[in-house]
Amino acid sequence: RPYQVEKKVLTTCPHCATGCQYYVLVKDGKVVDTEGYNGPSNKGLLCVKGRSGSFDFAQSPERIKYPLIKNHETGEFERATWDEALDLVASKFMEIKKQYGPDSLAGFACSRSPNEDIYMVQKMVRTCFGTNNTDNCARVCHSASVAGLYMTLGSGAMTNPIEDITKNADVIMLVGSNPEEAHPVVGMQIRQAVKRGCKLIVVDPRDIGLAKKADIHLKLKPGTNVAFANGIMHVIIEEGLQDDKFIAERTEGYEKIKEIVKEYTPEKVAEICHIDPDDLRKAAIMYAKADRAPIIYCLGVTEHSTGTEGVMSMSNMAMLVGKLGRPGCGVNPLRGQNNVQGACDMGASPTDFPGYQKVAATGVVEKFEKAWGVPLNHNVGTHATDVFPKAITKEIRGLYIYGEDPVVTDPDTSHIIKALKSLDFFVLQELFMTETAQYADVILPGVSYLEKEGTFTNTERRVQRVRKAITVPGEMRLDTDIIIDLMNRMGYPQPHLTSAEIMDEIASVTPSFGGISHARLDSEEVGGKGLQWPCPTKEHPGTPIMHVGKFSRGLGWFYPAEYVPSAELPDEEYPIILMTGRILYHYTTRAMTGKTPELMEIEGHSFIEMNIVDAEKLGIRNGDKVRVSSRRGSIESTARVGTKTSPGESWMPFHFPDGNANWLTNAALDKYARIPEYKVCAIKIEKA
Ligand code: SF4
Repeated sequence: RPYQVEKKVLTTCPHCATGCQYYVLVKDGKVVDTEGYNGPSNKGLLCVKGRSGSFDFAQSPERIKYPLIKNHETGEFERATWDEALDLVASKFMEIKKQYGPDSLAGFACSRSPNEDIYMVQKMVRTCFGTNNTDNCARVCHSASVAGLYMTLGSGAMTNPIEDITKNADVIMLVGSNPEEAHPVVGMQIRQAVKRGCKLIVVDPRDIGLAKKADIHLKLKPGTNVAFANGIMHVIIEEGLQDDKFIAERTEGYEKIKEIVKEYTPEKVAEICHIDPDDLRKAAIMYAKADRAPIIYCLGVTEHSTGTEGVMSMSNMAMLVGKLGRPGCGVNPLRGQNNVQGACDMGASPTDFPGYQKVAATGVVEKFEKAWGVPLNHNVGTHATDVFPKAITKEIRGLYIYGEDPVVTDPDTSHIIKALKSLDFFVLQELFMTETAQYADVILPGVSYLEKEGTFTNTERRVQRVRKAITVPGEMRLDTDIIIDLMNRMGYPQPHLTSAEIMDEIASVTPSFGGISHARLDSEEVGGKGLQWPCPTKEHPGTPIMHVGKFSRGLGWFYPAEYVPSAELPDEEYPIILMTGRILYHYTTRAMTGKTPELMEIEGHSFIEMNIVDAEKLGIRNGDKVRVSSRRGSIESTARVGTKTSPGESWMPFHFPDGNANWLTNAALDKYARIPEYKVCAIKIEKA
């Protein structure tokens, strides 16, 4: 290197749930570079975000450095002292609670922040606000996985580790997932698996990079996953390839699903999904005949008004052929944000306390009342996607958001802005003046992953350490100290715990985390490999593969899912389907990657992929400025014309505030998980 570094600090990349381990290299009190470490999920590999995008944002001059209170006469934010800001926040929330009741308040935790911070946010909402109206951004990405896998298998998380899948699989079935862009180091490992001879089935409406490596690419119509899965099961049963022993010993509900899938002949499914029936047959046989074949899926399965049924269909396929509870198999959702698995585990959920202990289950609320020493609300809370409509109707009046940016990320942006404007009081804890920040009454400065201790849980349930590398600048305070200070000011006495002490408290109330502590994660015994929950005792080595011998729910349950079309289909006025997603160079709202010039130079602005057939009809050429409209809004973007999407279909990234796809998307919700249908809405495209 052309410079001497003062120290190297081993930590976890904050840019996706792969959980890559790397050193951050510190010189003159600043992080100057990263260096890949041989972590369990990354084997020394890093993607472009881990290499160049993971530290600049923390050292940006644009960071919010002190508390800000909005002057409602001028509309401007004014600098405040910590006492002024925290007193105002505590008193306003308590005033609203007194006047309108505890369920008029809500608080969301940040899926990018450590487990310890998230645990404290949900604890504050439950103990001080007195409500279970707490949630995290899994509501808009993988809440369908949490619900669907819980209902069918008994645990809403990835069943097998990344290394096991990529090393041991004979066939990988990749459904609605583009890991080379969203989880690049997983994508690299899938490419390596293909090189060693593993077969690949890609099920995706777009020609994603890995489709070129696939033995079969089912380029199915967006929103038809349930029909596809039922078709796969139809062929497997028709060919007699189901695992009768596994079905008899370990599952229930088979007869019902068998009856349902009888109707889903390859020809019928081909018509619904716009695919070749022979390709469906080949895919079903290839998957069923393989000894080891995992299903890996992502938001192409979950972000639908039938997202939970899509997830349950993934479980159905795996149970039918007995590909669960053993190496190189399983049902594996690739979680999106770096700690969104942890945010769900830590109880940032209206229905679940930490460790998926259900609010509605007998004795759970009482257990936490005893542990936390305060009476708690016994009613299940409101999901984040229902909080916004309730803000408009004034059922929710006070909202605290820790590190989320719903104005950019949530569907139907104008509806989100209307909801935020309707609130009596809105507090945001954030690193930057995001699009959401302008609607806040108080902004509290947040702290980055480089400035604090803690843990992230990656997509494979692996709890790994986050370590402090640089000092919190100026007057800023640790996020957990801010939350604890607020709790004290709202009348709940809470000592100022360190991050390690908070993890000890988590372990004491969360059976699946019972054996996890910072000391153990830092020990030679664990050797930098983290611990995969369930890890119930201090002697337990963690659980790499779930459902070995027995499902978490006892018997696995075949969910009888029928295909239901998406909530909004194309018509004469809006003839094209829009899907949304991520690109390699950016992470969610770009609050972090948008501060890295190298990444912005590569991809800095909104674009829309459209098919050449549609483009020719509309007189649009590659690179033209276009106006894209749905029933909910209209934006400008740039056309990328090609064949990546099929005729009548288009795709946009949601990262860019200039031409943000979420002005267009549909807030239709899944009935179980309340996840919105980002992957299908109807639009029209015109030359701008
Ligand atoms: Fe970071 Fe994900 Fe890239 Fe790994 S794959 S370096 S965790 S962004």
